[in-house]
Amino acid sequence: MPENNVGTVIIGGGIGGVALAYYLAELGEADILVVEARELASGCTGGSMGGVRQQFSTSNEVELALRGRTFWRSFQETFDYPCTYHQEGYLMLTGRQEILDKLTAAAEVQKAGGAPNVEIVPADELRRIAPWLSPEGLLGGCWTPEDGRVNPTDGVYGLAAAARKLGVKFLQHTRVAKIEKAKGGWTLHTPEPITARRVIVAGGLGSPDLMRPFGLDLPITPMMVHYAFTTPVIQDEPLPMTIDLDTGFCVEREQDAAVVTILESSSDDSYGVDDMLAEFAEAAAVRAPVFTEVGIRSTISAAADATGGDGHPFIGEVEPGLWTMTGFDGHGTMQGPAIAKFTANLIAGIPDPVLDPVLFDPHRPLGETQEWLRAARK
Ligand SMILES: Cc1cc2nc3c(=O)[nH]c(=O)nc-3n(C[C@H](O)[C@H](O)[C@H](O)COP(=O)(O)OP(=O)(O)OC[C@H]3O[C@@H](n4cnc5c(N)ncnc54)[C@H](O)[C@@H]3O)c2cc1C
Repeated sequence: MPENNVGTVIIGGGIGGVALAYYLAELGEADILVVEARELASGCTGGSMGGVRQQFSTSNEVELALRGRTFWRSFQETFDYPCTYHQEGYLMLTGRQEILDKLTAAAEVQKAGGAPNVEIVPADELRRIAPWLSPEGLLGGCWTPEDGRVNPTDGVYGLAAAARKLGVKFLQHTRVAKIEKAKGGWTLHTPEPITARRVIVAGGLGSPDLMRPFGLDLPITPMMVHYAFTTPVIQDEPLPMTIDLDTGFCVEREQDAAVVTILESSSDDSYGVDDMLAEFAEAAAVRAPVFTEVGIRSTISAAADATGGDGHPFIGEVEPGLWTMTGFDGHGTMQGPAIAKFTANLIAGIPDPVLDPVLFDPHRPLGETQEWLRAARK
């Protein structure tokens, strides 16, 4: 049982909070406690499809994406913990000229950001990358072969193991009901109250409730994503993460089978996994008929952390000793560890060579996102 008077408490045991604990400890910070309402990786992180891509359209997102990809590619070596980086690539498709033009412009941003391995592929060459694909109605796509996917839960456990070695403690099954100012720090309302000199809120969808009393109205809301695991399919051909931006059709490899979904499906509360599967079947009949023949082994419905305004996370000190690092807009698996490292450095006063903390100021005006490749279906 950890002591009830600690140096730094991080609220939230997802990819963000656990990576932050690790990076702070790595910088020499002692006396860190991660407090998690349920279990590590039980929030958005546990539901994630684990996609890791360079395909963004603004330089800041590309920067975070590349840092994130480097993190996951080197994870096993760095942490000596099993968490395979499945480098199967990302293929974004469209039949609309304006979207192809935007993909082409985004590819230039990626190259300028240091990711030259990106190719705009005309429709008649797409089968070179995905032989099972029907290019009917497509103009082309954008192919990034170094992208891939991971199991983020393995990542959280690997990071937690590394953090524990550096002295970080974890308190699970403990919900923080409220954060209150106390003499010399903060009191966390938990069954046995905890006091801390510094508190960092990394609670994903739970962050807005914790930060509202401090005048922050964080626009982080649940976005339901439904996906399904199929029976074995396409075993002898490449199966990259393939997204048809016109319909939301999305497939990725899962061992000898696939994960299938419709991205950015309806936000209507009544829309469920059966609706997604019906929409997927319709899209697959055109794009990849082989998927109309698969069976469904299991399904998952989970809420991602849609982030409003400019879509950037909220990182910074809201009151002396009270920080937030939250709101990853549905791409926290790939970007979360990089954002956590940025935050640890910010707390330690180490300037970032590229990213200006003003971008992430929790009190900034909300604005609108410049990143059109947020998720899919444009
Ligand atoms: C279906 C789905 C697919 C996704 N696919 C991808 C993908 O392909 N690629 C990608 O990069 N990202 C993806 N994401 C998004 C990604 O999973 C999230 O952006 C990321 O996991 C957020 O991490 P986090 O640590 O901020 O939040 P979380 O993982 O939600 O962690 C926050 C933790 O805080 C805890 N908590 C909250 N409130 C409190 C409280 N009051 N007291 C104590 N603990 C509290 C919660 O229990 C939770 O465990 C997907 C998400 C979903 C749901």
